[in-house]
Amino acid sequence: MTTTRFAPSPTGYIHVGNLRTALMNYLIARKAGGTFILRIDDTDPERSKEEYVDAIKQDMEWLGLHWDRIERQSERLDRYAEAADKLREMGRFYEAFETPTELDLKRKKQLNMGKPPVYDRAALNLSDAEKEALRAERGNGVWRFKLDHERIEWNDGILGDISIDAASVSDPVLIRGDGQVLYTIASVVDDTEMGVTDVVRGSDHVTNTATQIQIIEALGGTCPRFAHHSLLTGPQGEALSKRLGTLALRDLREQGVQPMALLSLMARLGSSDPVELRSDMAELIEGFDVNRFGAAPTKFDVQDLFPLTAKHLQSLPLADVADAVAEAGVPAELAEPFWAMARENITTLGDLKGWWELCRDGAEPLIADEDRDFIAEAVALLPEGPFDGETWGTWTKAVKEATGRKGKSLFMPLRKALTGMERGPEMATLLPLLQVIRARG
Ligand code: GLU
Repeated sequence: MTTTRFAPSPTGYIHVGNLRTALMNYLIARKAGGTFILRIDDTDPERSKEEYVDAIKQDMEWLGLHWDRIERQSERLDRYAEAADKLREMGRFYEAFETPTELDLKRKKQLNMGKPPVYDRAALNLSDAEKEALRAERGNGVWRFKLDHERIEWNDGILGDISIDAASVSDPVLIRGDGQVLYTIASVVDDTEMGVTDVVRGSDHVTNTATQIQIIEALGGTCPRFAHHSLLTGPQGEALSKRLGTLALRDLREQGVQPMALLSLMARLGSSDPVELRSDMAELIEGFDVNRFGAAPTKFDVQDLFPLTAKHLQSLPLADVADAVAEAGVPAELAEPFWAMARENITTLGDLKGWWELCRDGAEPLIADEDRDFIAEAVALLPEGPFDGETWGTWTKAVKEATGRKGKSLFMPLRKALTGMERGPEMATLLPLLQVIRARG
């Protein structure tokens, strides 16, 4: 059965880049009727924070990306220790004692000689006595996985056929000197034991994948299908890494971005299918295919989320936005006509308040000198209430007959006098909502 996972480290808020990974894994699982696991990669006790775990869950719930199971790496440390023992027994795991400065020096020397900066495996030549002495002097060493020096190959769901020479990669450190288990092995153990069949993650993980394939094979597991999506850039192709801090999902939520707008964009951006606003999750799932994504960096412009949000809101019935309409201050009896008027004229739900204030308080009238008499005449012709959708038509017809004005010179001065603006909602739907006028009617 298809099983996927989204595996964030709870060291910060999740942003649009993480969302892309989460969504792709989610959609693959749902499309196949499989299982979607939320895995919290919290093996780093210093950087992992409970508040971020909560925030990740909230953000996922806001988007409707419901998980079938949650797993936490911090609760599975014994499993990782067991796997480490297995690798040790197999002779695929060795302790190394170089300090970061020594490693740095080695790298520089290699680069100077035009060689790739790959760990030279000096630790493999240490005798037991030498290791003992180093341990006494420096404390426990790190544990590295001994790669088989052969080509590592896989067919990537996005990048196509990949072939990496293991000799060009350093033996990965899987356990730190202080005993902390690192992601590279924890992830392999989890993916294997949890039956993960498909892994989609960012292309910054391609080298990890190569080493993880060998670890999975050493531990006797089955490799999942891998797909590595490109990284997001800003609209001009600039690196987004520094700005991702401001593209946290919670910031977007606060700016009024609607989940469906965000999901619709992310499910297609960087693929050969066009971005289309989807009305619900079922449509997103139906229209998703991970193999349609390209390897090139993907341009992301936060501004694209607003027209999609506006379009999504336009499609919603009052029932879906009733809370927001009430929060804007609209009395329940006016909610229906207010929403019918406002939904065509907002970008986010945050704009509702402004339209309600216009309805409730009226606007500073905008009246040109040459229109003063006309407006006075029009006001005198305002019909008796109650007002409805017909009132604007009846009224402007009467004003037209009385003043001889028509077209723009008839409608525009009335609009400006009533709303203080040259553009805005349909006057026929707005007029019955203008409380000052209603009071007269
Ligand atoms: N915790 C890792 C990350 O956030 C997970 C990578 C993976 O999906 O394997 O980069």
